[in-house]
Amino acid sequence: MAIRTTAVLWRGDDFDDLATYIRKHQAGGYPVQHVKDTSCRHCHGTTFRVTVDDEEGCALIVCQSCRAETPIADSADHVDDAALEECGCPCGGDAFSVGVGYAMNADNEVRWVSLGLRCLADGTLDVYTDWKIDYAPTAHLLANA
Ligand SMILES: [Zn+2]
Ligand SMILES: [Zn+2]
Repeated sequence: MAIRTTAVLWRGDDFDDLATYIRKHQAGGYPVQHVKDTSCRHCHGTTFRVTVDDEEGCALIVCQSCRAETPIADSADHVDDAALEECGCPCGGDAFSVGVGYAMNADNEVRWVSLGLRCLADGTLDVYTDWKIDYAPTAHLLANA
C-alpha cells in the first residue's frame, strides 16, 4: 500500500491503491463491496482513454492497444443519449487504468456504480463519475465490468 496524499490529490502505484481509493470515496454514500480491475476483453490491455457523461451515468473506455471500446456496467443502454466527454488528469495525462466500484444493497443487487481512474503519468487517483442503479436483477453488471 503506497498511497500518498497531498492537499487535493491522491496518488497510487497500482490497482490496489485505486481500489482503496474507490472504497474510501463511497460514491453515493454507500459502502463499496466489490472493485473490479478492468482489462480489455479483446487483448487484455489495461491502458485506456475514458469518456464519461456524468449527468446520464455513462462511461466508455477505449483500449489503447487495440482501440476496442468497452461500456462500463450498463453504459451500453445509455450511450445513445449520452454526451460523452474525455477524462483528463490535472497533470494533462489522458491514459488511465480503470477500476469499477460496486455498492450492493441488502439483497445483494448493485445499487451504485463508480468509475475510478488512475492516471498512468503521475498516479493520480480519482472517481470520475458514478451513478445509481435502480433495477434488478443486476448480476449481469458485475459480469460486464
Ligand atoms: Zn484491447
Ligand atoms: Zn496525471
